Parts: sequence; structure tokens; C-alpha cells
Amino acid sequence: MVPQLTDAFERKFYYLRLSITDVCNFRCTYCLPDGYKPNGAANKSFLSLEEIRRITRAFAESGTDKVRLTGGEPSMRRDFTDIIAAVRENPGIRQIAVTTNGYRMARDVAEWRDAGLTSINVSIDSLDPRQFHAITGQDKFHQVMAGIDAAFEAGFEKIKVNSVLMRDLNHNSLQSFLNWIRERPIQLRFIELMETGDHSALFRRHHISGEVIRDQLIMQGWQRQPRARSDGPAQVFTHPEYRGEIGLIMPYEKDFCASCNRLRVSAVGNLHLCLFGDGGVPLRDLLASDDQQDELQARIARSLGQKKQTHFLHQGNTGITQNLSFIGG
Ligand code: SAM
Repeated sequence: MVPQLTDAFERKFYYLRLSITDVCNFRCTYCLPDGYKPNGAANKSFLSLEEIRRITRAFAESGTDKVRLTGGEPSMRRDFTDIIAAVRENPGIRQIAVTTNGYRMARDVAEWRDAGLTSINVSIDSLDPRQFHAITGQDKFHQVMAGIDAAFEAGFEKIKVNSVLMRDLNHNSLQSFLNWIRERPIQLRFIELMETGDHSALFRRHHISGEVIRDQLIMQGWQRQPRARSDGPAQVFTHPEYRGEIGLIMPYEKDFCASCNRLRVSAVGNLHLCLFGDGGVPLRDLLASDDQQDELQARIARSLGQKKQTHFLHQGNTGITQNLSFIGG
């Protein structure tokens, strides 16, 4: 039996979100509106393929069964396919997922699948190409849509789409999103806009609770589904007349943190116990050689003792989180 990572509140951790780069080519208004800029340590290097191999092995040996590759934009790494293959070397990792803006999918998604990728989350905040352009700073709506078609053709049976819920931008577009998923096996997930240090004004203007969507879904006969052990934080709803599903990610809702099963590692190798407000435990000094694996596992397990019960986001805490590009949202 593999010893399971557990914190002081008896939460068990099966799910690692691993950022593999901070670089992104999109300029989403709520994340990197001015585009990615290397900050301070201009030539800091992101985790190498070997370091990623070691880190995922350590987590797999500690009971992790799901790894999500994120960023920045993970598909901007030239060795992205090799990274997927390296994670796949661990038999204990049953799910390898990516969160992507989708700009490379039409070209590369079949290769990712051959390398072992099992799930894809694509970020699409609007189904209107002009609004998509306005939010992301990139006129790539049709390219991303072609990417989704390519993913289905490559054999992915279901795709998740992330949409950040924003008052007056997309909060009243539920019907067009529902029409889009009527015949498509897409789980469309509305994520409540989270407050980060860089974007307080935007947050105050556009934050809206996911309850507005939940109320409409329930009125239209959608039903909430139970949650499995390595599932992410979404509340999932289904409807007999739709092939697609709706997910709601509501970090401001009471008890959101009680079901936390996730740990994060940043692209420079710091372990973050929460998306918000912790400085990170450096792991990189233990990623130089295979001989350090026991020590690495011990440090990860020990660090969990510091994980707090909640993110305190509802009290306006944004911690050190300036935006979500460095840790993967
Ligand atoms: N580049 C990839 C992408 O576009 O999906 C992965 C990184 S991105 C930071 C991960 C997710 O975080 C995206 O779905 C993005 O919309 C979401 N995100 C970023 N900032 C956010 C915020 N302030 N509130 C809610 N979601 C946010």
C-alpha cells in the first residue's frame, strides 16, 4: 500500500497540478492583460524534463493518481509531448490532463493523445468570436474550435471547457452555451472570477456568484451529480436532453476547501499548498538526482502539515497571488 498524502484536517491528496511554464501567448483581461513578461529573474529556468520526471515519480509514489499539466500555456513548451510521456511512465498515474488555451490543439492534439494524455480542459470564455478576441487579446476563436474538433477526432470522448464567469460579459450567455453542448460531449465549467492582487478593480466590476447559473440550471431540470475521489472542485450537473454537462466551480462558496484534494507545483519547482496565499516550499534542490527521491517524498509529506483549512478568499485575501499565470489557475 502506498502511504497517502494527508493533511492535519484529514484531507487526502490524489491530484497534482503541475505548472510547466509561466509563459503565455494570450492576454486575458483577468490574468495577463499586458501579456507575459518575465519578472525579475529574467532568465529563470522552468523545470526540465528530468526534473518533471522526478517530481511526478515522487508524487506517484505518494499516492497521486492524477496529474494536470498547466501554466502559463503548457503547450508553448517545445518538449510538451515528451513531458506527457514522462508523466505516463508512472503506472500509478491514471489520469494525465492538460489545461490549455487550445491554440496548438488543431496541430498537435493527436500526438498528445498518443503520448498518453487522457483529458483536456480548454479555456473558452465566450462563444462570440469578437468577444473572445476582446477577452483574450487573440483573434483565435476559430482556431481553438478547430482544436476541439481535432481532439474528438483524435479519440477523446469528452472534453472540458473552462469559462470564467463574468458579470455583463458572459453571465447572461447560458442559453448559447447550453445550445452548444446539446449534441456535444463537452463539460462546460463556469469558474467564478477570483480576486488576485493585480486585478481588484476588474474583480469588483465583473465578479458574480455561480448561484445565478445554478438557479437557472435547476429551474430547467438539470441535476447535480456525486463527486469522485480525484475529481476537481466542480459541482457537475446533467440533463437527459443534453449530451454535454455543466460544471460550476465556486471557490467563494462556504466549505469549498473541505473537499480540497489538490496540491500544486509551480514551474520553478515550489510546492504550493493552496492556489492562494502561500509562498511555496522549494523542492528544486531535491530534483537534481534520482537518489534524492526519498528525501523529496519526505519533504512533500512534511509540508502538508502547514496546509491551512481554507483559502480565506471570501475575506479578501489574495495572498501573494498577483495573477494565476504562475501557478495554473
Ligand atoms: N493557459 C492555460 C489556459 O488558458 O487554460 C492554462 C493556465 S490558465 C491560468 C488556467 C485557468 O485559470 C484558465 O481556465 C483561466 O481562465 C483561469 N483563470 C485565470 N485567472 C483567473 C481568475 N482570476 N479567476 C478565475 N479563473 C481564472
